[in-house]
Amino acid sequence: MRVVMIGPPGAGKGTQGALIAEHFDIPRIVVGDLLRDHVARRTDLGRVADGYLGRGELVPDELMLCIVRQALMAARAAGGGYVFDGVPRAMAQARAAYAIAAELGMTANAAGHLRADDNELTRRLPGRAALEHRTDDTEAVIRHRLELYQKATQPIIAWYAQRGILVSVDAMRQAGEVGREIRTALELLPAPTGPVIVRRPVDLSGLGAGCAS
Ligand code: ADP
Repeated sequence: MRVVMIGPPGAGKGTQGALIAEHFDIPRIVVGDLLRDHVARRTDLGRVADGYLGRGELVPDELMLCIVRQALMAARAAGGGYVFDGVPRAMAQARAAYAIAAELGMTANAAGHLRADDNELTRRLPGRAALEHRTDDTEAVIRHRLELYQKATQPIIAWYAQRGILVSVDAMRQAGEVGREIRTALELLPAPTGPVIVRRPVDLSGLGAGCAS
């Protein structure tokens, strides 16, 4: 199972991605967490990414695609499955990431789309900021991230639909309910084609090393 999550900030990609990863026993790649970890550790990558995260801007594709390549290679070595949360966020990034995945025989066979309402999200996100100590969940940055989602990320959904991999669910319900609906839809999909490799534990902790140079 190879799933890419798509949805606005605050729609529950993290929660649903974790449920999918657990259910199908596949690694979960959370790009935002990887970036924040680099910022916290003040790595070369973290120093470049820091300002973009603080403003709610997209980190440059060069860096993101380097991380994507490393993550897909790690996932391939670990058995071939994944849940990707955070990439792609714009059409150009989507096409470039797809090319890398195709080269590695690791393209997604499902896109989990979480549909959510902007007003509800604007209400949810400040609460999360307090819980997670995220500095980018302030009102102005939230508004900007939502706008960026509408403008840059949303067009990718139509592309997934064309590829026949879109699984779209109403995310404005209880997390368990949303999770059950996605899982059922994913179980009905044809199995992905690609490498068949013996499953090994995956270590994502070093991802991004060398990506800022
Ligand atoms: P959310 O989905 O709530 O916006 P994330 O943790 O996924 O939060 O992302 C936080 C920030 O990390 C983004 O605002 C952006 O600065 C950066 N980021 C995450 N994913 C990408 C990406 N695919 N391309 C560029 N920047 C990204």
